[in-house]
Parts: sequence; C-alpha cells; structure tokens
Amino acid sequence: MIYLDHGATTATDPRVVEAMLPWYEKKYGNPSGLYEFASKSREQVESVRKIIADSLGADPEEIYFTSGGTEADNWALKGIAGQGNRFSGKHIITSKIEHHAILHTCDYLERQGCGVTYLDVDEQGMISPEQLERAIRPETALISIMFANNEIGTVEPVYEIGQIARKNHILFHTDAVQAYLHLPIQVKEMGIDLLSASSHKFCGPKGVGFLYIRDGIVPEPFMHGGAQERRARAGTENVPGIIGMGKAVELGMASMGQEMAAVRELRDYMIHRLQSEIPFIRLNGSAKRRLPGNVNVSLQFIEGASMLVLLDTEGICASAGSACTASDHTVSHVLQAIGLPEEIARGTLRFTLGAENTKQEIDTVVDTVKLLTENLRGFSEEYQQIIRPDA
Ligand code: PLP
Repeated sequence: MIYLDHGATTATDPRVVEAMLPWYEKKYGNPSGLYEFASKSREQVESVRKIIADSLGADPEEIYFTSGGTEADNWALKGIAGQGNRFSGKHIITSKIEHHAILHTCDYLERQGCGVTYLDVDEQGMISPEQLERAIRPETALISIMFANNEIGTVEPVYEIGQIARKNHILFHTDAVQAYLHLPIQVKEMGIDLLSASSHKFCGPKGVGFLYIRDGIVPEPFMHGGAQERRARAGTENVPGIIGMGKAVELGMASMGQEMAAVRELRDYMIHRLQSEIPFIRLNGSAKRRLPGNVNVSLQFIEGASMLVLLDTEGICASAGSACTASDHTVSHVLQAIGLPEEIARGTLRFTLGAENTKQEIDTVVDTVKLLTENLRGFSEEYQQIIRPDA
C-alpha cells in the first residue's frame, strides 16, 4: 500500500502506542481520584499540558483537552458566541473554505440569531486582510479563519489576521488542525486567542485534541458535568489518548524542521512531475503558501471518483476532496469558492504526503496516475475531439 492521505489521518507512531499502553493496562487511575494511584494519571495529564503549551509558546493553563478538532472548533465558536454567552447574538467573521466543523457550527449559530460573514477567497484560496477589515462591525465578537486549508493546502495570512483582530479588540480563533506540528506556530506572536488541533493528524491517537484558550478569555463550557479541565470541559479525561498525544507532540517538535523540508521537497517533485508529464492538469491552491505535504490537482476530462477507485485497486490511498465528503459526490465548497468550474473540479485529487513516503513511492503514484488518466480520457468524447479534431 502507498498511503498518500495524511490529511485524512496518520498512522499512530509505534512510540506513541508504547507510551499509551501502560495507561490502559496498569496505571488506569481516574485523574480526579484523591489517592496516590490516581495522582499518577493526573501528573501525567498535566505534564502533557505543559508539553503542548511549550510547543505553542503558551502557558499550560491555556490548554484544554478535547475529543478532537471538531469539538475544539465547536467549543471555540459556541463558547464565545452561543446562547447564554456574553457575545451571543453578536457577529462572527469566517471564510467560505473552512472545514464543516466551523461552517456547520456557524450555520447553527446563525439559527440562534448570531450574524455570520463568510469571506470570499481568491483563486488560490487566500482570504484578503483588507476584505476582512471591511467586514468588521461594531458587534463583531470573533474572527475564525483556518491556519491552513485541509483540501488545497493554502496557508492563510494568520499573522496579519491576528494584528487586525488585536487592533479592533476582536477575538481570533484559528482551526490549526492541518497545520499544527506541520508548520511552526507561536500563538502570542501571531495574535491567536483560540486554536484548535487534533492528535490524529500528527501521528497521535484518534479521538483526542485540544483547544488553546488565551488566559483571560472565559468561553461558556461546552460539556456540562464534573469539574474536570478547571470546570470548563466536563468528563473523565482520555488519559491514554492525552498521553499519546503528548508523546506525538514531543516527537513532532523534535523532527518538524527536518520533516517539513523533506516532505516539501517530495511534494514539489510530485507537483513538477504531474504538471510536466500530464496535459490538461491544474494545481489547486497556492504554489508558495502551501502545507508541506499537500498536492491537490484537477485533471480535466476525468472523474476524480473513478480515478480513486482505480488507484485503490493499485494499492494507492488518496482522496478526492476532504475525507469528510468522500461519500458525497457534489463538488466541494472549497473548490467552488476558488472559482473552479464544475467540469474541472470533478477531476480533483488530493494527495497528502507524510514523512515516511519515499521518492520511489511518489514515482509509482505519478506513473500510475499518468497511465490511468490516459485510459480514463480514452472514454471522454470531449477529450478525443480536442486531441483528434479530424478523426
Ligand atoms: N478542521 C480541519 C481543518 C480538519 O481537517 C479536520 C479533520 O479533517 C477537522 C477540523 C476535524 O478534526 P477531528 O477529525 O479531530 O474531529
């Protein structure tokens, strides 16, 4: 198998699994317990809080564990602008290319009377800081713009957004699920007030993540119940998951610089080969401001869904858009937002590379995509007319 779908999820690092196992089998104490056995779990959870805080230039008290990116996104938005909150019924600014964890939450908040502005993006998927500034209203409470897009890999101008938010005394949340540990992030320097991340995108276990909440911000609790997470997020902590995430952060921080460079090189090699060897191909997203592992291309005159099935029979895992919409064959909202015509968008493939991928694997994938594209285009009358107008 050649796995090029790291944007959907990553393999859990064996060192992460090893770090987790004792906390299932032997050291299973509930961190809320008052005895020595339980305090071991509590200490370990707190040490992970510090590891994560250090990775972002934050304080441990600013890190809250969640069940993943979706919960962190829901909490950030509903906790700030949902009912029963200081900012309820106010205004949020987001973008048209956010993950559904943000867009569907905004839709829910709109039904509760909150105003939401969805910023356009340019053809590369970038929001415009000027347009953002123009969208600010006196009642704007929150800006939520993703750090990097999960489909086309475009990295948004986070620093500029942070400055605009600060200048206008508006909170800034960023969904960094695709960016955290793949790009350097420093929350204070970047003016980020809230940040979501998810462990399974950086070789940690699934079902665990965190929300960074800057000190002084008190969002409405998302889960009501026990007093865990300083009464902000009730529920017994996923101790093995949190410990696994902590190990993945340690490993990720140690190797990020080196891996970023290596994955970027492979990505650029793949893009170069695809673009120079396959006609009627288009790279989606920004060529420069791009996640290290993201290759998103549209192949004209083919159906991305057919290509994925054929790639699967060759043992190659890729995706057509975001994994969350894999079963839904409508053109993704991100490709619509960058203005891709439907007939081109339908031939879109997303390959997301990871540190374990090799040049040899990339060559195999490009050769296979090339061959399958030729075969599939053989069935396209439109394509045949273009290459053989006299036939
Ligand atoms: N936000 C983005 C940008 C994502 O890519 C994803 C998952 O793909 C999520 C949020 C949801 O994260 P999780 O799978 O941890 O709920």
